[in-house]
Amino acid sequence: MSEFNIIDRYFANATPNREDVLLGIGDDAAVLRPADNQQLVVATDTLVAGVHFPARATAESIGHKALAVNLSDLAAMGATPAWALLALTLPTEQPQWLADFMAGFSRLAERFNVALVGGDTTRGPLTITVQVIGHVQPNRVLTRSGAKPGDGIFVTGSLGDAAMALHIDMQALTGAAADADAWLASLHERLDSPTPRIAAGQVLGPIATGAIDVSDGLVSDLGHLLTASAVGARLELDKIPRSTAFINLQRGVGIDKKTAWQLVLAGGEDYELCFTLPQTGTDSLQGASWPVDLAVTRVGTVTDKSGLELVDNSGQVVSLNDFGLTGGYDHFR
Ligand code: ADP
Ligand code: MG
Repeated sequence: MSEFNIIDRYFANATPNREDVLLGIGDDAAVLRPADNQQLVVATDTLVAGVHFPARATAESIGHKALAVNLSDLAAMGATPAWALLALTLPTEQPQWLADFMAGFSRLAERFNVALVGGDTTRGPLTITVQVIGHVQPNRVLTRSGAKPGDGIFVTGSLGDAAMALHIDMQALTGAAADADAWLASLHERLDSPTPRIAAGQVLGPIATGAIDVSDGLVSDLGHLLTASAVGARLELDKIPRSTAFINLQRGVGIDKKTAWQLVLAGGEDYELCFTLPQTGTDSLQGASWPVDLAVTRVGTVTDKSGLELVDNSGQVVSLNDFGLTGGYDHFR
């Protein structure tokens, strides 16, 4: 198959048509019409085989994830996604792989009405770069830098699920727990098919003082928010939300407490939102537009002391070193 057949067959009609795409795939570049009175929000993220997805990952889940991690960045800005570009480097021509990859990509694109408007296709070690473009009203941009002492710190969903799935796979742990397979499947789902928190980000836009998506682990990502806002935080360990699957498997396969906390605090790949709200902002979350199935949990408070302080349920300060932690995942460490 020629490069042009590949483009026609797999990319040209893979995603929703949008009327703000004046010229999509097929010319030298796409022509897009930005919405009136909106600002553009742009992000890009690369997935490299062996680094960002394990060998067992299916092409479909890789397609989903390549778009999902980018949409997660738009969610953290309070933006509404509109367009995407896809730069694919493929080792060999594998029509089935491409079809499966695009099935995962397209399903998520449909869910969030994202049009694939261009990209690039080259030969080499499997690498996927997606760029997404969205829009936001000027006064609804969410950034990392507005958190104030006294604000509550919140996270969506649960943390540590994806990291536990990876940990169990890598250590080849098995459990005696009755439903271990079903719990593990639900954690794999979290690892392979994260759901970008777009609707939550849109609700938070006018309310939250600071926001970030949790991709490298809460300690690391909250750390970035604190640095950007020039504040500190007290984080209450026992409040950090963990899923039933996480808790059951921790017991079921016998993961020690220290390891479990490492997974929750620094495992990464959560793709949840961490955000700060002034005390008066908390009530506004009860509004109708917050996604009904998305938990939101207060995990701490912004302080004027610099740095991140962890406390246990008796208020005792816990050292990050006790968990063998200094921060999240850093590609260059
Ligand atoms: P050029 O050589 O001018 O850069 P290409 O031949 O690479 O153009 O691409 C032709 C068209 O196909 C362009 O519109 C480009 O955006 C699109 N395209 C190429 N690869 C991809 C891809 N992986 N996903 C989406 N669109 C793609
Ligand atoms: Mg050209």
